[in-house]
Amino acid sequence: MTTALERARALDAADPLAGLRLEFELPVDDDGSPQTYLCGNSLGPLPRAARDRVVQVLDDWGRRAVRGHHDGPRPWLESHAPFAAPLAALVGADPADVVLMNSLTVNLHLLLVSFYRPDAARSAILLERGAFPSDQYAVESQVRLHGLDPAQCLVYAEPRPGEDALRSEDVEALIARHAPRLALVLLPGVQYRTGQVLDMERLTAAGRAAGAVVGWDLAHAIGNVPLALAEWGADFAVWCSYKYLCGGPGALAGAFVSERHRHAFGLPRLAGWWGHDRHTRFEMGPQFVPMPGAEGWQLSNPPVLAMAPLAASLELFQRAGAERLRAKSLALTAFAHDLLDTRLAGRVECLTPRAPAARGCQLSLRVTASRAVARRSFEALLARGVIGDWREPDVIRIAPHPLYNAYADVAVFVDTLAGILEGE
Ligand SMILES: *Cc1c(COP(=O)(O)O)cnc(C)c1O
Repeated sequence: MTTALERARALDAADPLAGLRLEFELPVDDDGSPQTYLCGNSLGPLPRAARDRVVQVLDDWGRRAVRGHHDGPRPWLESHAPFAAPLAALVGADPADVVLMNSLTVNLHLLLVSFYRPDAARSAILLERGAFPSDQYAVESQVRLHGLDPAQCLVYAEPRPGEDALRSEDVEALIARHAPRLALVLLPGVQYRTGQVLDMERLTAAGRAAGAVVGWDLAHAIGNVPLALAEWGADFAVWCSYKYLCGGPGALAGAFVSERHRHAFGLPRLAGWWGHDRHTRFEMGPQFVPMPGAEGWQLSNPPVLAMAPLAASLELFQRAGAERLRAKSLALTAFAHDLLDTRLAGRVECLTPRAPAARGCQLSLRVTASRAVARRSFEALLARGVIGDWREPDVIRIAPHPLYNAYADVAVFVDTLAGILEGE
């Protein structure tokens, strides 16, 4: 009988993207032995080329100091600009509508200031009950900023009792029920706990048909699943770059603002000099004239050092190609499902939907025995150098990433977990 690892090795040998793994420094145990890293949903590993990118900025700074804004191979003045095209490709947008800036929650606040404009008729926001805490806090605090009561304004979409995933038809029905009072629909492209990919096209259409603004949090979606924000008609989106994008811890985040709002200069916004028209920015006038598109929401001159690693990672995404990445991602999770079914049926259940369109890299697993066994198993995996992460109350998340994970990583994970559970 062929073992899981033998099957995995055969799949790796035939994988056209297998070589990209060598472009990363993958984490090692304290004794230097390689780990099985399946935690890119939380923090992507280091692309090797990122070191040179960072050192180059340091060199430019050392050699040129203030001249570095204008001189050198990559002048800092427009340092955010080269990111727009590759990021726009990943989210399915025009580069004019995408910007790299700040961190995710900051961008969410900036865009809520502009796009959550409650009035007497419409003040409700639809979000999900299990929203990532930062999104929940951001939304609640924005509601309060308008002198409104979150208890009155927030409408929650949630899975049916006994289910883990949201059903599109339920979210649609909720949107329709609250349509006349709905100001904003704010949902995640991929739910962080379950790994479910929401039907962004369908729910964007539903939100807009209800007369609401539609925003997406793509923290777990960018670099993970295909996105087409412009085609779907979303109003805005935000994301971070340290998860699937491998931009480094606390990496700069992104924002998308629909073409429909590209010249909406009358929208209220929090302004800063870097959002001012680049042609007249250095005339230093008192009158704020925003740039068209997403760049008009920038506040400060960008942290060039912090941006550098992301450039290395985005080059790898471009080299791999979105279609090949998605195909490998689906094959990796299908392989994982298959092994879990044959090795751990009844003992481990998967919360992530099976349908390819509803899953990305991440699989969220629940050990059926008990929460205590699940927690012990998770700790035992870590002790054996198999790195996933834990989400309360009882979820083990793994995310085989097509850029750097091998099928063998999936086989090692399932073999190790099976061994641990047999010892329980
Ligand atoms: C990871 C994540 C965040 C993190 O926010 P930061 O501002 O980058 O710290 C926010 N929202 C969601 C849905 C996330 O998955």
